[in-house]
Amino acid sequence: MVSKLLDMFRGSSTATDPVCGMDVDTKNPGGGTHDHEGTTYYFCGTGCRLEFAEDAQGYLSGEKKMEM
Ligand SMILES: [Zn+2]
Repeated sequence: MVSKLLDMFRGSSTATDPVCGMDVDTKNPGGGTHDHEGTTYYFCGTGCRLEFAEDAQGYLSGEKKMEM
C-alpha cells in the first residue's frame, strides 16, 4: 500500500486487473497485457491473464469472478 502511494506521487498510472480487481502498474504489469476488442487490459500475474484470455467476455460482463 505504501508503494502505491509513492507511485501516485511519481505520477505513474495503474489499471485494474479485470480478473482479481487488483491495481496493476501499467508500465510494469506483473502478468503482462491482453488486448480484447481494441482495449488493453493489465494483469497482476500470468494466471489472471490466462483466465481472462479464456473467457474475456465473462469477466467484462461481471458474470465471472475469481474467488480470492
Ligand atoms: Zn490478478
